[in-house]
Amino acid sequence: MPMTLPPALDLSLDLLRCPTCRTRHLRPDHGALRCPVGHAFDIARHGYAGRLVVIRPTGRHLAELRGRVPAMVTVDPAKEQRLHRALNPFFEAVVTEQVEYLAVLSRPDVLDLVAMTPSARHVSRADLDEDGLLPDRVTVSVLATAYRPR
Ligand SMILES: [Zn+2]
Repeated sequence: MPMTLPPALDLSLDLLRCPTCRTRHLRPDHGALRCPVGHAFDIARHGYAGRLVVIRPTGRHLAELRGRVPAMVTVDPAKEQRLHRALNPFFEAVVTEQVEYLAVLSRPDVLDLVAMTPSARHVSRADLDEDGLLPDRVTVSVLATAYRPR
């Protein structure tokens, strides 16, 4: 029977590599993942595909930046619910851990960090050049959940 994948896993398939030949573009094929070369892996039994790890920011992630750069996008509080709804029919959460630490950053690092966020298109480099606007340390705060297939 062909397998239907949730959108979240469907997207991450493009990021996975075949553990045998390192090729990307794994595709679901009758309860397995198959690479373009033809190697197949049972999703339920092979450890590398047996866990889906989802990492997402908490409300405190990069709080120092959001406090000083008004255009920074905030974390959607409904994201947890959406994630749960999308994954719950297919995956069971095994463990969730919160990882939080303070990262000390140089000014170029902070500028790069802003440029990597979804906020980049709302913030101009000139806005950020204002003296004292950018913090020299930011909180990294994420939840990491490991899921197993149901
Ligand atoms: Zn392969």
